[in-house]
Formats: sequence, C-alpha cells, structure tokens
Amino acid sequence: MASNEKPTTKILVSVASGLVLAGLLYLARHWIPPALRWIGSVFVTAWSWFTASHAIPGWLLLLLSLCGVWCFFRIVAAFRAPPEPVEPQWHDFTEFEFLGVLWRWRYDGRGTLHSLVSFCPQAGCDMQTYGRLGQYYGAGRETTVYRCDRCGHTPEAQGSQEQVEDKVTREIQRLLRCGDWKNHIRPSA
Ligand SMILES: [Zn+2]
Repeated sequence: MASNEKPTTKILVSVASGLVLAGLLYLARHWIPPALRWIGSVFVTAWSWFTASHAIPGWLLLLLSLCGVWCFFRIVAAFRAPPEPVEPQWHDFTEFEFLGVLWRWRYDGRGTLHSLVSFCPQAGCDMQTYGRLGQYYGAGRETTVYRCDRCGHTPEAQGSQEQVEDKVTREIQRLLRCGDWKNHIRPSA
C-alpha cells in the first residue's frame, strides 16, 4: 500500500465532514433566510432613497454641487498629470566633454564601456573627429590633436591617442564610481 491512510479512514473523514456541514446548515436554517431578507431590504431601501427626491436646503445643494465639480476636475487633472521625470541611470551617462573633446561611448551587458568615439564639442557642430599626431614637444612628450574638419576647432591632448583614450576611460570610470556622472547628464529634450 503506497498511501499512509487507510481507505476506511478517508471514508470516515468524508462522512464526518458531510454530517458536520449538514448539522450546521440545519442549525442555521432559521436565521439564513432572515439574513438574506435583511440584506435585500437594505438594498431596496438604499435604492429607493437614491431614486426619491429629497428636501435639501439650497445652500447644501450648492455646496455639494461645488464639491462634485471640484472632485471631477481633481480626478481629470490626476489622469492628465504628466508622468514623473525618470531618474537618470548610470548607463544613461554615455557622453561628456573632456580635454576639449566630446566623448561618446557605449556599455556592454556587463557594464564595460566600449566604442569610445571623439566628437567636436563646439555648439551645433557635432562632427566626429579623429585623433592625429599633434605637435612634437620632445621625446616622450607627444601630443594628439582632434581637429574638426567642419569648424576647425583643434583641441590638443598630451600623450599618444592610446594614452589619451585610456585617460578618458579612467575618467569616465571615476565619474561612475563617485556618482559625479549625474552632473554630465544632459536634460532630455
Ligand atoms: Zn566642429
């Protein structure tokens, strides 16, 4: 036998439950119909009160009407209220100006930034720029310029292009760590 309970026990429990339920119904037979009648009469009374005309002082009627109008406009305003502005998240921080260059990048699924691209930061220009070898100041003092072909803006950064981009990446990571990235989020249009 797989079951722990004997079949006779199950039958006994079922019979006992049935008897208890029947007993309860028998005991309640006198008050169930009056209870239903009472609930019904409450509904009937409420309905006839709602549909009947009442003698209400004019000032009370005016007050209630004004309250009704006010409530109506409050409800309409609540539905029409613009949604709360969404708080920016760290992964919304995908561009900032640094070393005279506007940097843009992306994050992968693990939050590691990639595809760092340089742009001209001049207002209204938004031209992509490329790092080029800049002026030579001596051994170990190379520079990289990000000359804009459109407006001629030529920011210069110390170090090779690789060093500059490494510096930018570290600055982005620092901003993300300390929370200052929020100061570089542009308000969404
Ligand atoms: Zn430009």
